[in-house]
Amino acid sequence: MDAPLEGGCSCGAVRYRLTSAPMFVHCCHCLDCQRQTGSAFVLNALIEADRVERLAGEPEPVSMPTDSGRPHDIYRCPACRVAVWSDYGRRGVMLFVRVGTLDDPSSLTPDVHIYTRSKLPWVTLPEDVSAFEVYYDTKALWPAESLKRREALRMAR
Ligand SMILES: [Zn+2]
Ligand SMILES: [Zn+2]
Repeated sequence: MDAPLEGGCSCGAVRYRLTSAPMFVHCCHCLDCQRQTGSAFVLNALIEADRVERLAGEPEPVSMPTDSGRPHDIYRCPACRVAVWSDYGRRGVMLFVRVGTLDDPSSLTPDVHIYTRSKLPWVTLPEDVSAFEVYYDTKALWPAESLKRREALRMAR
């Protein structure tokens, strides 16, 4: 990542900057993500909350119903309601930033495809990226540096 990545909502009220590369990037093909985005999948950059610098506006959490009962808050621009990130589990320390809200969404590519059991049949996955019917083992897939960052978050909780 050369320069810090910036992004925002459609109306411009919410602007943010990622102060480092994310730990990992998910492409999720689950039914919830399909419904919540109205699309085939969602692209989420997993990054520490304190590495998402707020440049303008304060996204508001909207609580989503989940099968597991674990909280899932989607943070939306208070004006145009575009979703900019999610907090799964209401942990507060890690955000799932919507890659499609980056000024240049091509800056980040998926490190893994998950929940491919509900992948739309016309979506063809690249052969050189790991893909899983459901979920995966973080320790087996994440780079050592990212695992270290995630571990630091655990201790911070
Ligand atoms: Zn907006
Ligand atoms: Zn999903």
